[in-house]
This record gives sequence, C-alpha cells and structure tokens, in this order.
Amino acid sequence: MANIKAYAATAPDSGMAPFAIDRRELRADDISIDIDYCGVCHSDLHTVENDWGGSKYPVVPGHEIVGRVTAVGPAATLYKEGDLVGVGCMVDSCRTCQACESGLEQYCLGGATMTYGSLDRHDGTVTHGGYSERIVVSERFVVRIPEQLDPASAAPLLCAGITTYSPLRHFNVGKGHKVGVLGMGGLGHMGVKFAKALGAEVTIFTRSEAKVSEARKHGADHVIISTDKAQMKAASDSFDFLLDTIPVAHDLNPYLKCLRYDGTHILVGLLTPVEPALQAGLLVTRRRVVAGSLIGGMPETQEVLDFCAEHEIACDIEMLDIHNINEAYARMKKGDVKYRFVIDMKSLKNS
Ligand code: NDP
Repeated sequence: MANIKAYAATAPDSGMAPFAIDRRELRADDISIDIDYCGVCHSDLHTVENDWGGSKYPVVPGHEIVGRVTAVGPAATLYKEGDLVGVGCMVDSCRTCQACESGLEQYCLGGATMTYGSLDRHDGTVTHGGYSERIVVSERFVVRIPEQLDPASAAPLLCAGITTYSPLRHFNVGKGHKVGVLGMGGLGHMGVKFAKALGAEVTIFTRSEAKVSEARKHGADHVIISTDKAQMKAASDSFDFLLDTIPVAHDLNPYLKCLRYDGTHILVGLLTPVEPALQAGLLVTRRRVVAGSLIGGMPETQEVLDFCAEHEIACDIEMLDIHNINEAYARMKKGDVKYRFVIDMKSLKNS
C-alpha cells in the first residue's frame, strides 16, 4: 500500500483540499500509472456536490487521466514501463456479461466500477480518481495514447471525447445529416468537432452570444442562441439529431420542436429527471425519439483516441494548477471554460 498526495472533497460544501490516499499493491493484471494530466469534467463537480445523490466522501474526482506506466503486475502483458496511457471513467466491470463481452463495459449488467466513488469489486474500498499522483488499475481498463496526440489535450478525450463520439457513431451520424449540439462546454465543443469530422452539417445551440465566433472556429456551420425564441422557431422541424450536453434540468420541448420527423434527441448531460415534463405530442406527431448514452466501452475509447490522431482533432484546454481547482469549479458553473480545464499534475507533485 502506498500513501500518496491527492485532492478531495470531504462533504458536499467542503470544496476541494489536499488529502492523502492509499493506492493498493499491484494485483496480477494491474499496472501503476504516474499521472501527468487529468481533465476536469462537470461530472467531477456533480459528484463533489452530491448533485446525483450517493456520493461517497472523501471524493477524489478525476476520470480523464493521462500518464506513464511505472510498474506492471505479473500477469499484465499489454503495457510496459514508460508507455503513455490513459484511464477514463471506468476501472473495472464483471468482464463476463453480454455487455462486457461486447466491449460495452459501461453497460455491464453487474454494474461497472467507476474510476472514482465506486466500490472496488475485490476489496470493497471506495475508488479514487485522477486528482492524485498515481493510479493502480487493471490493464483491461487502460488505453494507449497515440504518439501524434499532445498528452494534455488528449486527457479530455477519455470522457468528453468518448461521450460525444460514441452516440454519434451508434446512431450512424454522417454526411447528409443535420446535427445540433446543445451547450458549448467540454462535451459540446468535442461534439461539434466529431460531428463535422463525420461529415454532418453542425449547429451549436448556446445561451452565449460570446461563444458564436468560437463555435465557428470549432467547425460549427451555424449557431443558434437558444434563449432567442425567434431563432428557435426558425429552426423548427429541421434537425436529424440533437446531442444534448446541458448539465442541468432544462425544457426539452423547444428543442424537440427543432427535430424533423424521425429525429432523435440524445441526452448525455442530464442524469436527473426531465423537468418540465416532456410533451408527448411532440414525440407522437413526428415519430421523434428521446435517447440517452453513457460514455463508451473500452474498445471504442481506444477508437476515439486513434480517430483523433488520424483526423488531427484535439480538445481545447486551459491548463490548471491543482490548487486553483475551486476557482475552476466556480467558472465551470458559469459556463466559463474554454473548453476543458486540465490539471498539470506537477502542481500536485511539487506541492
Ligand atoms: P461544461 O460545464 O463544460 O459544459 C456544459 C455547457 O452546457 C455549458 O458550457 C453551457 O454552454 C451549457 N449550460 C450550462 N448550464 C446551462 C443551463 N442552466 N442551461 C442551458 N445550458 C447550460 O460540462 P461538461 O461538458 O463537462 O458536461 C456536461 C454534462 O455531461 C454534465 O452534466 C456531465 O456530468 C455530463 N456527462 C455525461 C457523461 C455521459 O456518459 N453521459 C459523461 C461525462 C459528462 P453554453 O454556455 O454554450 O450555453
């Protein structure tokens, strides 16, 4: 057992502060990773503040982890010391159910073990994430970072990237489709880049006039200010897909009206009840669909990294010292991040 430096929340209103945690000795198929970078996802903030209920304190968030392999268990064969690797939102699953065997570990019928705030399947301890010096994880839940990618801007691909890539692939989004991305934050700006790379015509829906020019820089063909009723009305019956990254309860009905018949509204941002209620008539009268999607499985997580290397796609990041994490969360709450904070873990190691 090694005692290492980390940052944790000890209660929903505690904020984040330095905290020491233990990392286990390597199991047979484990590798140990010295963490260089960790992205800051809105899910970290939701969990720290217990927005979804059930947070287990202390919470050490972080599931966009990039670092170097420093040790390898006796049965681990995929990686060697010095390899640049990544860990995303999951660190284990039952590995035997139909979902796991299909590479869809996020939908494991026994429940995937998440990178932080889950109970380890073997020893029952609470998992701790990437706001820490080091992580020990089964090699089955590790991906290789292609050498063409900048390691810091690759980190967010492990959650923001895969979460937006996976549903676009699942629904076969491509040339000839009109796609709307709702919310231009960490997930949203990646959604724009992927939908464009897949050949779709892309519109960003944002509340913020200030993001219009940047949305175009990210490749958006059009921008709709979602608070402008006239712009929303003008978009009626026009989209094949909406990828909804908005992190809080919001009225889906005005967005549903923007879908053409057979259009699909894909929820990735919202994990709490839909409020206000859905107007079923908007679904029935156009055979519209409301769907959801959770991150992506391990093979597809490797696929998105390789896709980004091939298509020269990168996440736009702001580097962060870990001692500024509370200010970063405050900015994230205001939608003021361009477009993902990534913690330089030297700021923890040298503290
Ligand atoms: P960010 O905070 O980076 O971005 C969210 C964006 O949504 C903001 O930039 C803003 O865009 C918009 N937004 C924020 N608040 C509101 C509001 N009150 N009304 C309308 N729009 C709003 O978050 P992330 O991209 O990191 O995460 C988005 C959500 O996705 C979170 O809830 C997160 O937990 C969830 N998530 C889900 C995953 C999954 O597997 N399904 C995986 C990872 C994250 P703008 O200023 O352009 O309006």
